[in-house]
Amino acid sequence: MSLSFAIVGSGPSGMYAADALLKNFPNCKIDVFDKIPMPFGLIRYGVAPDHFKTKNTARQFLRTLELDQVRYLGNIEIGRDISVNELEEHYNAVIFAIGAYNDRKLGIPGEKLPGVYGACAFVGWYNAHPDFRDINPILDGANAAVIGIGNVALDVCRVLTKTRLEMKGSDIAASALDIIQNMPIEAVHMFGRRGPVEAGFTPKELGEVRNLERCSAIVAYNQLPVSVEGNFEGREKGIKEKNLSILRELSNQDKPEKPVKMHFQFYASPVEILGTTRVEGIRLERTVVNNGKAISTGETFDVPCCSVITAIGYQTKPPEGLPLDGVTIDNIDGWVRDNLYVVGWAKRGSSGTIPTNGPDSRNVIDLLSENLNKNGSHTPKPGGKATDKLLSTRDVRVISINDVEKIKDAETANAAVDHPWEKFTSIKDMLAVVD
Ligand SMILES: Cc1cc2nc3c(=O)[nH]c(=O)nc-3n(C[C@H](O)[C@H](O)[C@H](O)COP(=O)(O)OP(=O)(O)OC[C@H]3O[C@@H](n4cnc5c(N)ncnc54)[C@H](O)[C@@H]3O)c2cc1C
Repeated sequence: MSLSFAIVGSGPSGMYAADALLKNFPNCKIDVFDKIPMPFGLIRYGVAPDHFKTKNTARQFLRTLELDQVRYLGNIEIGRDISVNELEEHYNAVIFAIGAYNDRKLGIPGEKLPGVYGACAFVGWYNAHPDFRDINPILDGANAAVIGIGNVALDVCRVLTKTRLEMKGSDIAASALDIIQNMPIEAVHMFGRRGPVEAGFTPKELGEVRNLERCSAIVAYNQLPVSVEGNFEGREKGIKEKNLSILRELSNQDKPEKPVKMHFQFYASPVEILGTTRVEGIRLERTVVNNGKAISTGETFDVPCCSVITAIGYQTKPPEGLPLDGVTIDNIDGWVRDNLYVVGWAKRGSSGTIPTNGPDSRNVIDLLSENLNKNGSHTPKPGGKATDKLLSTRDVRVISINDVEKIKDAETANAAVDHPWEKFTSIKDMLAVVD
């Protein structure tokens, strides 16, 4: 009998962890669980639909799920269908790779008004995530506000301002595309508490805003520092310098004449969302940045808008029985307790790209391997057999990797012209394909 491992979550960090386990324990058996029938987490439900090539990373992970030693159990939520303790009992080690699916809050008055959305929900909505299909965002005005100055904020601004033609080839949910295209948009305002140097953009993503068909990006020259000051070195400093050069180029445009504007507004901290029954605007306070920290100046200004989308980071939502430490599962270098580990955004917070998860997951699996070898705990456990027995007594429909292929085929068949597929937005519809 071989060692058996459970991985909870089939996003990048879980899949890199599976690859690392197979390398360290070539004869092991791995069960990968996901609460959604379809695998790969934010590759499917986070990465911007118009960045379709990035979604191809999923192909390498699909090959792992198709291996004989690996089993995919989709539509199984740990904490609902199987408890954390049950997994710990039946597998030699359990790795939580559950990502971060809760939006961090601004903590300002008006945040609960209809028209305020966290990016996790908003991005999930246009990416057809079943948990967010019903948010029906209010997009009926000329202005939207996006809080945050990172790549997620850029994604949201770009998707809101691109034309239908520019969304050709994307896998945006058709219903979301219709709502976005019907918005009488004139401007999207991106606000950041700090300055361009502190912004989390990457140059490639920032550079894309130069080439939008109907939208001009507007940057105020007086908000741009002469050079990158602060504690930045090497690659990080290079990224900041490139960003600054792109922003400078944008600020130098003579007369941005395209009908829609994307305003980059730095040094502006949201203090209140305005409105009585729904969002009508946002109040911001001017800041100055000192040693990388935003300091309020007391000077405020208002911007009218029909909706506010916050892109200020995500926090994890672990099932009962797992310790939370702020926005992550409490861990030491990925170790949580006994034979339980955490990887990815649930371990280190919502930062880093898909590849960033590779070395991170491998380090955790190396630690796990070291600990297993040290403890001599190589006595095989029942693993998948015990799980099958448990699930046979519970009212659940497990989605296998073959089922995933069938759902994918149906989604491809449902695709509108010029789109690769049309994702199902409800789990019920996904299950109908395989039942
Ligand atoms: C809007 C957005 C755009 C991005 N764009 C890019 C990009 O263009 N390029 C890039 O390289 N990176 C991008 N990233 C970053 C990248 O997506 C992350 O680095 C990566 O997905 C994190 O991987 P993860 O495995 O930790 O989490 P996730 O990808 O979130 O995977 C977690 C998985 O766990 C499952 N799960 C959660 N709870 C349970 C449970 N209780 N039981 C069972 N399963 C559960 C979820 O369904 C999900 O499938 C983007 C991120 C966001 C938010």
